[in-house]
Amino acid sequence: MRLKEVLEGKVRLKVPDVEKPEEGEVFYNPVMSYDRNISVGVLKLLKNVLNKPEDKLTVLDALSATGVRALRYKKEVGVNSWANDVNPKSVDLIKENAALNKIKIKVTREDANIILRKNKFDYVDIDPFGSPVPFLDSTAKSFLREGFLSITATDTAPLCGTYPKVSLRRYGIESFKSDYYNELGIRILISEVIKTFAKYEKVFIPQLSYSRRHYFRVYGKVETGVKKVNNFLEKFGFVSHCFNCGWRDLGLKETCPMCGAKTKFTNVYLGDIQNKSFLKDLLIVLDEMGFEKEKKLIEIIKNEASVPFYFDTHYIAEKTGKAIRKIDDFIKKLKENGFSATKTHFCPTAVKTDAKFSDVVEIF
Ligand code: SAH
Repeated sequence: MRLKEVLEGKVRLKVPDVEKPEEGEVFYNPVMSYDRNISVGVLKLLKNVLNKPEDKLTVLDALSATGVRALRYKKEVGVNSWANDVNPKSVDLIKENAALNKIKIKVTREDANIILRKNKFDYVDIDPFGSPVPFLDSTAKSFLREGFLSITATDTAPLCGTYPKVSLRRYGIESFKSDYYNELGIRILISEVIKTFAKYEKVFIPQLSYSRRHYFRVYGKVETGVKKVNNFLEKFGFVSHCFNCGWRDLGLKETCPMCGAKTKFTNVYLGDIQNKSFLKDLLIVLDEMGFEKEKKLIEIIKNEASVPFYFDTHYIAEKTGKAIRKIDDFIKKLKENGFSATKTHFCPTAVKTDAKFSDVVEIF
């Protein structure tokens, strides 16, 4: 395997010398350094969130590829890192990269599920190709009582409603393709994590959730206790959508109250997907590390209204036959009418607001 050396964060890495990441015998995508920078920021907050000094925190990078996450977490945060990958070439490269940086981390070649079943961690990073679903049960078992978890999902097409039956099979929830597809998709992913963890009397409390390019990334705190679990399961509810006139609302309505057409509906987690005070702390850390681009994303997310789901103004324009409006003007108008309204990182032409569909259409 031909290698080249790159610098990411504070670690030097040997990575496959290929044009496209998927061509390498070991996977490395330089573009994803953006997300890894955010992860490093999150890891820096763990000592406060979990009340444990960094050198007592054990972190698993379960699908490690080049070892980049595990190495950065060790070098830039100071936690005890464990890198695992099932690919033997990957494991050789992780060891080479650890030696290159003179960093001591634990390295194993195993199915991630085996490592997760046999050990306990404070923080687990599940960053696979495709869906994280095959790893969720064993991840739930890998926390003693408290912990922190980050998950990537790149199978956004089923989650966002392009393949509703795949979403039903994989996540137990049938998606539909709405104008707020990114938020519905990420909520379906979070729903599945919450329901899986609930089986083990654990709760996954979302702290930061975002969609970017073609993937979702979700961070959450893990806690134990039946009361907490029950409380979270109460945050599930229906969203109903009319594909004829565009009406949508929380709650179950089989026929559209605006036009009478049959709706589509699905049951998902409707609670908070961000923890604003966590994001405030994250912004401080990202600022200290000089991660300006990453800060911008977190800033937008921190200011987003918490209410599910957003309205895409282009969709509203199409459904009402009206001209497209400038998003800033529309937000201003909603606010003048007494509603909360913000932009959302999920979609540049969309608004998050507590206004109902009929108000949104009227003000539009
Ligand atoms: N986290 C890496 C990218 C990981 S790509 C980064 O930030 O760069 C996904 C990796 O998962 C691949 O290296 C693949 O070999 C590994 N993998 C796939 N299935 C696995 C399994 N069941 N157990 C452990 N590793 C697995």
